[in-house]
Amino acid sequence: MRQLKNRTAILTGASRGLGTYIARALAGEGVNLVLAARSAGELERVAEEMRALGVRAIAVPGDVTVAEDRQRLVEATLAEFGRIDILVNNAGIEVTAHFERQPEEELRATIDVNLTSALLLTRQVIPVMLERKAGHIVNMASLAGKVPVPFSVPYAASKAGLVGLTESLRGEFRSRGVSASVVCPGLVSEAGMYVQMQQDAGVKENFLAGTVTPKKVASDVVKAIKRDRPEMLVYRGPGRLVSAFAEAAPGAFERVFPIFGTGTLFRKIADAREKQRDQGGT
Ligand code: NAP
Repeated sequence: MRQLKNRTAILTGASRGLGTYIARALAGEGVNLVLAARSAGELERVAEEMRALGVRAIAVPGDVTVAEDRQRLVEATLAEFGRIDILVNNAGIEVTAHFERQPEEELRATIDVNLTSALLLTRQVIPVMLERKAGHIVNMASLAGKVPVPFSVPYAASKAGLVGLTESLRGEFRSRGVSASVVCPGLVSEAGMYVQMQQDAGVKENFLAGTVTPKKVASDVVKAIKRDRPEMLVYRGPGRLVSAFAEAAPGAFERVFPIFGTGTLFRKIADAREKQRDQGGT
């Protein structure tokens, strides 16, 4: 989809973190926005900011795991704009934890928010896109869907699911004008869930793991749509090389993987979270 001006995009997870950066990047291209998340006040503030940037924007508060809320989101978009050109499935949660002690509801919630909701919302917008023979879905996955990340079992499973979802969507709908991209960032600095984890657990990634800025992730979302890219790995350094190595030689990759330090990093986050929970926190 080369030309984005005056297109309409639904963006989930738009109330904070990466979502606000993606909203700004899309608004910068002249895309009108339908912003979704549960926090109504924050969402409305983002919508106001987007209107100040010169695009039309509405906030539709709701939970992506609730069928009526997803339906309301699609209906509100069609009522306001009469079209859906782009869907960015960005809403996500991560609970870094020792898998064997993670409660079942936490496992289910992670898959539900990150994967099932994206699958269902995508199915709801596809018929609208097919009518115009044009549309693009962006699924916000993670490097965790491409390389092994310990202490993130349900998260990694949900993100690998988004990779498969995207590949299959492309196979089924591209010949009919509707395409899809998966965006896989590494650790993101400045805003979002990893910054929150760092603050909560007092940890820092090592040099090799590195971080990318939310602005870079957002600009890669736009690039993925404009250039119809199947997959964007947003990682400081040679992300594609790392991922290709992991896929081509998983056994060898496992042996060198500890140098990235993410196992130690996420173990510390999981430990801090358990400690906080044992002391009566969340
Ligand atoms: P974040 O700051 O925690 O923001 C998550 C967003 O998702 C919020 O807007 C939140 O809004 C929304 N959300 C969560 N549960 C929801 C639900 N049930 N229904 C509707 N909205 C919901 O996280 P982030 O870092 O910006 O993450 C955005 C995406 O990037 C996620 O898919 C994440 O997995 C992915 N990612 C992030 C990083 C990173 O390092 N930050 C790296 C790789 C991939 P409400 O709470 O208001 O509902």
